[in-house]
Amino acid sequence: MRYSKIFSKSTKSTSADNESINAKLLTQAGFVDQEMAGVYTWLPLGLAVLRNIEQIVREEMDALGASEIFMPSLQPKEYWDTTNRWEGVDVLFKLKSQTGKDYALGCTHEEVVTPLVKKFVQSYKDLPLATYQINTKFRDELRAKSGVLRGREFRMKDMYSFHTNQEDLSAFYQKTLKAYVRAYNRCGLQVKVVQASGGVFTQNLSHEFQAITDAGEDVLIACNSCEFGENSEIATHNEGDACPTCNAVLVKTKGIEVGNIFDLGTKYSDAFELEFTNEEGKRQRVLMGCYGIGTSRLVGSIVEASHDEKGMIWPKSIAPALVHLVRIGEDAESVEAADGLYNELRAAGIRVFYDDRDTTAGAKFGDADLMGLPLRLTVSKRMLAESVVEWKERTATEATKVPRTDVLASVKTFAQA
Ligand code: ATP
Ligand code: MG
Repeated sequence: MRYSKIFSKSTKSTSADNESINAKLLTQAGFVDQEMAGVYTWLPLGLAVLRNIEQIVREEMDALGASEIFMPSLQPKEYWDTTNRWEGVDVLFKLKSQTGKDYALGCTHEEVVTPLVKKFVQSYKDLPLATYQINTKFRDELRAKSGVLRGREFRMKDMYSFHTNQEDLSAFYQKTLKAYVRAYNRCGLQVKVVQASGGVFTQNLSHEFQAITDAGEDVLIACNSCEFGENSEIATHNEGDACPTCNAVLVKTKGIEVGNIFDLGTKYSDAFELEFTNEEGKRQRVLMGCYGIGTSRLVGSIVEASHDEKGMIWPKSIAPALVHLVRIGEDAESVEAADGLYNELRAAGIRVFYDDRDTTAGAKFGDADLMGLPLRLTVSKRMLAESVVEWKERTATEATKVPRTDVLASVKTFAQA
């Protein structure tokens, strides 16, 4: 990606939403643009991060044996009446067709997936099954003021599973819980797994996945070593106690909910009469689970958890590119050298963001820190004279010099480290 070729540039102006670090940094770096409160355009660099996260989540869901689908956001009122949620869900966006018919904009997809699966499931032989999508969700949030953490239009991966018995559902639920922790860790984020207080689904099991950062809305009593956490409102442990799972110390922290899984029991299969014929030939209700990850909220959570006074610090796995190549100088020699390195790295499959603009070194270095790609490489006349490239990792304080002939090998090693 050449900086000169993308129209979205970094900007000094902060968004109106300057209370939140993620909105400020993502906007200044040209990753997102706020259209209105809680609604954002994902610009090329931000979209690259979102896609990288969604690809990691996709791989983890595929590994569970779930199949990917894509469901409509436009949903008929009848489905929402069937579950009594047309009136019951306060954040549901409702709209009217010119024909007079009412529709909901999907804030979740139980109302679509349950009747969908009903068309395909007849007997126990058709179960279990799991299906997921990565889609845009709409919620009429009153407090859309934390940047991409709380959107009114946002991205979510939602998976639904269908089972003949509780044992099978519970086993899949536990497998999914582990896959979630893996997905967050692959995105460079440590999470706490918190048993949820219930809410709508009080009698059944539910877990939230909490990213630890000061920007969080939830207060937790969490282990400072393993994934154990409790919501402070219903905690059975105190700050300073020993962790019940690993014996390390429990501390009080703030968290952002980046995922939530539920054992739904027969709540939706009762509403839609989703049944299967069991081995004795009797009709039985299907048991369901649902599993959500807020993929756009994850982008913001990672910014909140990983930045310094100069800007964002992206983990390699989800960074828009591994290398931020800076060219200083517009002379033919510098241009040829920098273009050459850009092409060499790309040919080797390295993701490179190339700042080929005609602007000052200060502006380019400032942008590199703000954008937070893992490795900055600088080509300049001074470096060319020594046959070296300047090497500066985003998390390091000092820059070093690497012989031009060693750069590709060093970058490959860095990519794998
Ligand atoms: P919250 O309590 O933060 O409002 P929720 O519990 O209503 O979220 P779920 O229905 O559990 O959200 O949705 C699954 C996931 O989608 C959440 O864990 C969160 O990561 C993400 N999410 C929910 N609402 C939003 C939103 N308005 N903007 C961005 N992501 C969201
Ligand atoms: Mg939730």
